[in-house]
Amino acid sequence: MNCIVCKGELTKKDINHIVDINGHIIIIKNVPAEVCEQCGESFFENQVALALEKIVDEIVSNKAEITIVNYNDKVA
Ligand SMILES: [Zn+2]
Repeated sequence: MNCIVCKGELTKKDINHIVDINGHIIIIKNVPAEVCEQCGESFFENQVALALEKIVDEIVSNKAEITIVNYNDKVA
């Protein structure tokens, strides 16, 4: 798989994924992603993207302004 933006090489890396929903900041640490070495764009596999959606849905329902979670704690 190559980068869809610049066709550069992708490398597997654990990244911090930051989501901002209506001023609610969610930081998910250690998310496995493919990161482009050329432009820095990051991509998630389908199952990872789905897991992230679930985590965000769950967290958005509580009222904290900033939430930091570890991907590995949420996806067993
Ligand atoms: Zn790229």
